[in-house]
Amino acid sequence: MKKHYNIPVFIPHAGCPFQCLYCNQNKIAAQNSAPHPEHLTYLIEPALQTIPAHADIEIAFFGGNFTSLSAGLQSEYLNATAPYLSSGRVAGIRISTRPDAIFTSILDNLARSGVTTIELGVQSLHDEVLKASSRGYYAEDVFTACELIRQYNFKLGIQLMIGLPGSTRYHELYSTQNTIKINPDMVRIYPTLVIEDTGLHHMYLRNTYQPLSLDEAVETVLQMYIQFQIAHIPVIRMGLHPGEELRQPGNIVAGPFHPAFGELVEQALFKRQAEPLLLWHKEAGHAPGKVKLYVNPRDISKLVGNKRGNIDWWQSTFELNDITPVGYDRLNRNEIGISAADDDSPLKTITREEFLSRVNTGQ
Ligand code: SF4
Repeated sequence: MKKHYNIPVFIPHAGCPFQCLYCNQNKIAAQNSAPHPEHLTYLIEPALQTIPAHADIEIAFFGGNFTSLSAGLQSEYLNATAPYLSSGRVAGIRISTRPDAIFTSILDNLARSGVTTIELGVQSLHDEVLKASSRGYYAEDVFTACELIRQYNFKLGIQLMIGLPGSTRYHELYSTQNTIKINPDMVRIYPTLVIEDTGLHHMYLRNTYQPLSLDEAVETVLQMYIQFQIAHIPVIRMGLHPGEELRQPGNIVAGPFHPAFGELVEQALFKRQAEPLLLWHKEAGHAPGKVKLYVNPRDISKLVGNKRGNIDWWQSTFELNDITPVGYDRLNRNEIGISAADDDSPLKTITREEFLSRVNTGQ
């Protein structure tokens, strides 16, 4: 399968009906205005030079609501990208927009103009959460929009946020189950951050909003990620891209930001996945004290965890003195093996699929 690349074109707040409670795209994207359509080539050409030949490339309009732009401006942008499509240098156009900005007349035009993927900033599928964040639409509107997008055969992406005002883990998992019912082609999950100059920033200062801790956010996203994996729905991003501007002091006021948030979730998943092996090892009466855990060499950092957090946690939970992580290239990615300390190969392994099946069947 060809590797996918997006060439991002940020159109910060373009087409937004109002500024959402938590959002400040100027801080997120380090850009105050959308590029003029005639200037797109200055963004696209240099980006193309950095992407390997024969990759699967989309030009991606992010940071605003493409379908809420005037019809004239949408056409100007799409006319500017048309030569890249007709020459085959890019395979498609991706846009992001709000669920209440999806109409057949607009989709007709997008389909004619080479748009391949539509990402919806859904954020939640629970009406109470949508109301508390003043999103201006309800879950039913999302279902209707997704159905329309499907009828046109666009690829569908859904962006979810966790930790919005009034939202709990129950609400996040409710949104997850409803997203799985929609069966999108991809999902992004973002923990809510308190960004400077937003409504949420004011709520935070008035003490009427408390963000999630990093540990809470990782655990919630982990539970969502597991459910999406069981449903075979790709999660293409967890956590905001840590751009230069976003990381400037003062821009993130509070909240569970980590520059490698997705990696933390992956590490948490390895921690969970190794537990059945460690339990088996303990119950089988193997020599206590020392074990080796094996993974594909490319998964070592995920196995070990941030600051050896996984190793320390397993050692205290399973009363082990020493866990040695071993890179073992006969294991597939996301597969874990275990043996006693003096063995040189795994006695037992668990693949990601086997682990997900255990979770799914409540084992
Ligand atoms: S969340 Fe979307 S609609 Fe709301 S202000 Fe940000 S870009 Fe605009």
